[in-house]
Amino acid sequence: MKILVINAGSSSLKYQLMNPDTGDVFAKGLCERISIDGRLTHKVPDKDIKVVREIPMPTHSEAIQAVLEILLDPVNGVLSSIDEIDAVGHRVLHGGMEFVDSCIIDEDCKAAIRRCIPLGPLHNPANLMGIEACEAVMPGKPQVAVFDTAFHMTMPPKAYRYAIPTKYYEEDSLRRYGFHGTSHKFVARRAAELMGKKEFKMVNCHLGNGSSMAAILDGKCQDTTMGLSPLAGVPMGTRSGDIDPCVVQFVCNKYGMTVDQALNMLNKESGVKAISGVSSDFRDLEDGAAQGNENCKLALEKFAYECAKYVGAYTAALNGLDMLTFTAGVGENGPLTRAAICNYLSFMGVKLDPEANKVRGKECLISTPDSAVQVWVIPTNEELMIAQDTAALCEK
Ligand code: AMP
Repeated sequence: MKILVINAGSSSLKYQLMNPDTGDVFAKGLCERISIDGRLTHKVPDKDIKVVREIPMPTHSEAIQAVLEILLDPVNGVLSSIDEIDAVGHRVLHGGMEFVDSCIIDEDCKAAIRRCIPLGPLHNPANLMGIEACEAVMPGKPQVAVFDTAFHMTMPPKAYRYAIPTKYYEEDSLRRYGFHGTSHKFVARRAAELMGKKEFKMVNCHLGNGSSMAAILDGKCQDTTMGLSPLAGVPMGTRSGDIDPCVVQFVCNKYGMTVDQALNMLNKESGVKAISGVSSDFRDLEDGAAQGNENCKLALEKFAYECAKYVGAYTAALNGLDMLTFTAGVGENGPLTRAAICNYLSFMGVKLDPEANKVRGKECLISTPDSAVQVWVIPTNEELMIAQDTAALCEK
């Protein structure tokens, strides 16, 4: 099978054409500057092909058209006919309470994604544009929506309800949703294969530019750090993570900021970038810390401290822990951050193997044989998860 995986943003569109069974990527790329001018970057990993083309893209339809044309290109393409694409899988940010799983896209599904726009005002409209562009360019091709929130819909009410007046939940659907669900699901599935069983307690740490953690019991999410939006939880590259909401009131009153401006500050000018004053990239922070920059050291310490606190909290929530997993950019490539987090967890018998923990970007058991909790690095692959969900739904 060949599945085209699409991740549409407001002015960009990422794509991968892949085999859902093997994970082989036939081609992948990115359309940028949609509605401004338009640039396509296309890669064929097997053939070492990289093509960059300026192509006018007034809307997402022209972007998808450009993707199909390059996929069919006799020199740089990998398809001889559009019919070779079995189905299209779309990443959709917010499924609200409407979606507990991935679903075949039809008019009802699109209407439900549209109803979720108030919950995902930046992403859902772009995701819909990607879906409608594919419908326009490939009419009749099966399409599937895979939601970033769906994996977390197994959370119990005690985890997802906010302690605010009920009407905001009942009338406005304000609650914890959680994100990175596709990644957490992928890692949880792989973790079950590695454990050789389905029943166990795990915490997955998806630590990248955006970071979230999930408490997972027998493969099902019980709690997660992000909330109504991806702003909640541990501090991130540029997001504050959890803060007292009175910070918003304070900066609005003192600096005459609007709520939107305050939230922009919390989303884009905060996190480890703000504390370090240097960068949102953990490589820069590690370089800075190694050169004695105290602010970089503090940013790294704060990040590890908050992550470790959540592991402790989720161990209580699960009443134990069998497996701790690290994934995404920092989780897969940051031995120092992994060690700093696990250092807080020695009280519960977590023991890292310092040699094994040197691993970067590869699946690896990084705890010692006598560690009370198995600690693993498991590289995530959200595109493959989307392709697999798409294939499974289209085969039914
Ligand atoms: P992601 O959002 O999952 O793509 O993760 C991106 C982040 O991973 C970057 O901003 C870096 O901070 C981090 N990262 C990537 N490679 C490394 C590395 N070798 N060491 C430490 N951090 C890394």
